[in-house]
Amino acid sequence: MRSSGGRPSPAAAFEEVRQVYHDLAARPIERNCSLRTECCHFKLTGKTPYLTRGEALLAARGLKATGRKALPARDDGACPLLDPQTSRCLIYEDRPFGCRTHFCAAAGGPYARREVIDLIHRLEELDERLGGDGPRALPAALASVL
Ligand code: SF4
Repeated sequence: MRSSGGRPSPAAAFEEVRQVYHDLAARPIERNCSLRTECCHFKLTGKTPYLTRGEALLAARGLKATGRKALPARDDGACPLLDPQTSRCLIYEDRPFGCRTHFCAAAGGPYARREVIDLIHRLEELDERLGGDGPRALPAALASVL
């Protein structure tokens, strides 16, 4: 079901995305992430998170809050938001849904889609209201909104 609501303001969109992240965190799905950042090395895992437009806007705002205006360049196939100096996510509080659901084996493995499908639908519905064209791979999704 798609909403017929108008395009939300950036503030309203950020709030909607954050509410999805909040509702996800409230789910009783046990995982134990120890910040190994394996999942941030896309070339090694063969998996890249896909972001809806609301997620990308929130991540871009998080990146700008660090003083950066563009996506940092990386040539090792890792996420451009993984700080090479600290090996930490530059936007951890605003990290996308995929980064919150795709855990490495050591952390307990990825969430099953059926466990979070309602939350995915909320992000997709917001994407449509924001004029997005569906989830895009993280580098392209960020580049399109920076
Ligand atoms: S956004 Fe952050 S948590 Fe997600 S893959 Fe990139 S560095 Fe890792």
